Amino acid sequence: MMRPQRALSAWAAWLAPLVMLAVAAGARAADPPGQADVPRPPKFVTAKQWGSQPDPIADARRHTPQYVTLHHAGVLWTNDRDPVEFIRNMQAWGKRRPELEQPPRNTFWPDLPYHFLIAPDGRIFEGRPLDYEPESNTKYELAGHIGVELMGNFEEQRPSPAQVESAVRLVAWLLAEQRLPLDAVSTHGKVAKGQTSCPGRDFARYFEDGQFARWVAQTLRGEDPKIDLGPPLEGGPTELITETKRPAARASQ
Ligand SMILES: [Zn+2]
Repeated sequence: MMRPQRALSAWAAWLAPLVMLAVAAGARAADPPGQADVPRPPKFVTAKQWGSQPDPIADARRHTPQYVTLHHAGVLWTNDRDPVEFIRNMQAWGKRRPELEQPPRNTFWPDLPYHFLIAPDGRIFEGRPLDYEPESNTKYELAGHIGVELMGNFEEQRPSPAQVESAVRLVAWLLAEQRLPLDAVSTHGKVAKGQTSCPGRDFARYFEDGQFARWVAQTLRGEDPKIDLGPPLEGGPTELITETKRPAARASQ
């Protein structure tokens, strides 16, 4: 008697995320199952290609991805910076936190805190392997979260259209690959309430008004997302991340 029940529950477990995904993607009820376009994987700069040198991550940190959580670096990006150098430095700093940082920030980060990092030019860099939970200086249940970080500080500058488009395509692909519903997508500020302004008001705005989810849904339907970042927020940053120069260079202009 066990076998039919188990087969049925396995079927239900397999079907449920697909149904949620289809609903989330706005697929018409008439679409035959399995016929929806699954977005192609975006092109990554792999960890090997950028020269990642992680330390081993403890097995206790293994997790099953359930959410996709967006971040900004929170560090002003200037257009003289090199994304590869930025990532290498972040990884090296994480491994030296016990000697560089004060408690409680002095925990050892064997690899990048995020699973993917997106440069202002739209390039996507592979970070920590998806099999392991991320790292954070804020308190929330880390297990289950896939961390996607956009370089820059969107309290002070605006993300570039290329950067946002890469985020949309990456998130759509992750949802399809991991069989997660559209509402699995959130931001650091939402999951760690009251603890951080991450991912910055000029990126968080697209999660407040549902625009990011609409772009992801478009992508999941096999369409090209129509990225229009709109005008600056009232009192918000006006400068595009790709136009931000170092203060010295600004002064000399
Ligand atoms: Zn964050």
